[in-house]
Amino acid sequence: MGSATIQEVRAAIASGKATATAIAEEHYARIATEDGPSGKGINSFLALSRDRALEQAAKIDAMAAKGDALPPLAGVPVGIKDVLTMKGSPATAGSLILKGYMPPYDATAVTRMEAAGAVLLGKLNCDEFAMGSSNENSAYGPVHNPRALDRVPGGSSGGSAAAVAAGFAVASLGSDTGGSIRQPAAFCGVVGVLPTYGRVSRYGLIAFASSLDRVGPFATNVRDAATMLGVLAGQDAKDATSSDRPVGDYVGALAKPVKGLRIGVPAEYFGEGLDAEIRAAIERALDGLREAGCEVKTIALPHTKYAIPTYYVIATAEASANLSRFDGVRFGFRAGAGTQTLSEMYRETRDQGFGAEVKRRILLGTYVLSAGYYDAYYRKAQQVRTLLTRDFLAAFAEVDAIVAPITPTPPWKLGEKTADPLQMYLEDIYSVAASLAGICAMSVPCGETASGLPIGVQIMGRHFNEETMLRVGLAIETA
Ligand code: GLN
Repeated sequence: MGSATIQEVRAAIASGKATATAIAEEHYARIATEDGPSGKGINSFLALSRDRALEQAAKIDAMAAKGDALPPLAGVPVGIKDVLTMKGSPATAGSLILKGYMPPYDATAVTRMEAAGAVLLGKLNCDEFAMGSSNENSAYGPVHNPRALDRVPGGSSGGSAAAVAAGFAVASLGSDTGGSIRQPAAFCGVVGVLPTYGRVSRYGLIAFASSLDRVGPFATNVRDAATMLGVLAGQDAKDATSSDRPVGDYVGALAKPVKGLRIGVPAEYFGEGLDAEIRAAIERALDGLREAGCEVKTIALPHTKYAIPTYYVIATAEASANLSRFDGVRFGFRAGAGTQTLSEMYRETRDQGFGAEVKRRILLGTYVLSAGYYDAYYRKAQQVRTLLTRDFLAAFAEVDAIVAPITPTPPWKLGEKTADPLQMYLEDIYSVAASLAGICAMSVPCGETASGLPIGVQIMGRHFNEETMLRVGLAIETA
């Protein structure tokens, strides 16, 4: 069942046509032949959790044999981005500094997936501490895009997108701080959802930038993504920023037609620098929405041009604070057998344990928070963040959803942009504003380039209105 959907897997198990155990084995077999260097070298999995997966599969099979009602993700093989903790599996966050770290607990998102019947196959490769747009910042080697093996899968959740695109998992979990679910979803031709900030618990997510970090699903289609979101969403006593708002009926909402919805198209997202084939694919998606009875109109998000600098000040500031906990004492790797003092040990551990991009961000973040620069950079960025949020609030007074590109270009070749960090940051131009504003957003496939590379389109929705966003996503997928 390589490209099976959640519905298909569940139905096959319920009807006795397949067992969860056989489906899990099939996926492990595909991973064994294709993911490693002797196969396609996709490199999406960093660790497999075979015992845990097969134990869960056996539980589901026993339920099916008894004729019990099956939970929504019964027997569905799922992969977990390696920034979420899973008891019994190593957690590296793509970093050497966490090498050997075994978390003693499950992230809430992981607990919820398993409670809903999912079979957790293992941990997925990603950029180090989720910092990157190409998965080339992983200390464990880059991930290759299953749709074009010489190209990047996007990042930072490159492994999560690639595993679903390659049929190694039916769905997966990722995290998105400034685009890390939506952009790799677009690059690999799958669906990725960034839930509203507070909609999904961050407990057990290794922190990058806490005011921006979010957990969300990857799937092959919008309905599966809605099913995943329904399982993940909800308040969690272990995450004070998780919201007590009632969880929506995301799958049920998909039955409502989109006729009459007002769709905003932000002029600022269609400037120079947007690839012509992507622009054309989004125009076609908008035509499809018009045919389905949506009213499509141009809107303004006037502060968009400040989104990248604002994001890279706030995200690095928070990262410099969050990453101070990695000192060689508490977690994973410790360097400096020959060091004499504690501070030497800290220094050696952090010097050897962190990669270049992470160090760059710690330096930048420490700088913008330091006395004398705080007002000029960090405070200013917080003020602009408010303006960016107000842009969206004003837009959503006029429209029900916003449709825009998610990436300015199709997936580039591995190695093409690694020499110039700024070039890499600019790839986030269409993703970071939604992150700063806390609104929900998703990426849905909407065609491919002449050379067969996937193209995604972004749909942004009001805070806690994932339902409308998903309906628009489904309408684009159907068209
Ligand atoms: N590409 C962005 C960055 O490098 C976003 C990463 C993310 O969302 N985790 O920060």
